[in-house]
Amino acid sequence: MSFLKRRTILLSGAATALLAVFGGLIAMLQRKGVLTMSESTEKNLANIMTPKEHHWVGNGFFVSTIFSVFDIDYKLISPFVLMDHADTKYFPPTDEKLGVGEHPHRGFETVTFAIKGEVEHRDSGGGGGVITTGGVQWMTAASGVVHDEFHSREFAKSGGDFSMVQLWVNLPAKDKMNKPRYQSLDFESFKKVVLEGGKAEASLIAGELAGETGPAKTHTKMNIYRLKANQDLEMQLPLHQGFTSLLFVIEGGLEVSSQKVSARSLAALEREGTHATIKLTKGSEILVLNGEPIDEPIVHYGPFVMNTEDEIRQAIADFQAGKMGTLVEESGS
Ligand code: MN
Repeated sequence: MSFLKRRTILLSGAATALLAVFGGLIAMLQRKGVLTMSESTEKNLANIMTPKEHHWVGNGFFVSTIFSVFDIDYKLISPFVLMDHADTKYFPPTDEKLGVGEHPHRGFETVTFAIKGEVEHRDSGGGGGVITTGGVQWMTAASGVVHDEFHSREFAKSGGDFSMVQLWVNLPAKDKMNKPRYQSLDFESFKKVVLEGGKAEASLIAGELAGETGPAKTHTKMNIYRLKANQDLEMQLPLHQGFTSLLFVIEGGLEVSSQKVSARSLAALEREGTHATIKLTKGSEILVLNGEPIDEPIVHYGPFVMNTEDEIRQAIADFQAGKMGTLVEESGS
């Protein structure tokens, strides 16, 4: 986008005369869309996405797809591609491996939020490890990885409540064939941001909030954080003009644009606007996804998200030829 955002004009006595001269120029630039003023405007609710029927991913993840490019116009959710939610489910202790075996990805990032329980992962790019409760695994598949995803051995052995979110984040065309990257981010690494005098607290994963910066490295601009209400509250959530803004209710209840959004549902806001006025009940928690859309065509097929049909055909061929790597077989168990 070429126009200037958030340009603020400050007025003083002496500036008033100058303003008369520049006023006409500014009005013209605004009409042409070159200049936009930093007015604070409300981002309204566009629609509520409710959870779809649950399905098993492997034998460890009982998920409901909240949104996906398979059934929504990508333009409405870009740069996000898909979001699966495994709602809290008790798993009894077991020695079995619970999860999903070797499968490929190319052209985007899988971001896994361990809400409760632990997820273990290995990939052909050399990434791997355990994400413990509250942590996030940010895997940039880019040119391609093969990976597996399981409940951690330790968690499976002791059993317990398991809950997670997996988000697919698209990559711009220029980064789709980069080398894969793996970021393991534990809960302690997130910036804790106290808001509304302590009524709310955010755990900042990526991007910015109230002058703080989250630890996750991203390829396009986005702000991702978990926001928890310590008491009933109403607040203005800072969001970006022109960004996709999605509020997923992990727990409790949210109200936006006078509409109630219940747990496990997602409020998709309009692109227009700089903030949203939200109400949260005490103990509620939401996941805020606020990202700059990637205005490029996409073609997706299963675990591949590319820009053209040819690139999809190439992805399939490369995977079949073993070019996305393989996982070393584990001996014994
Ligand atoms: Mn995967």
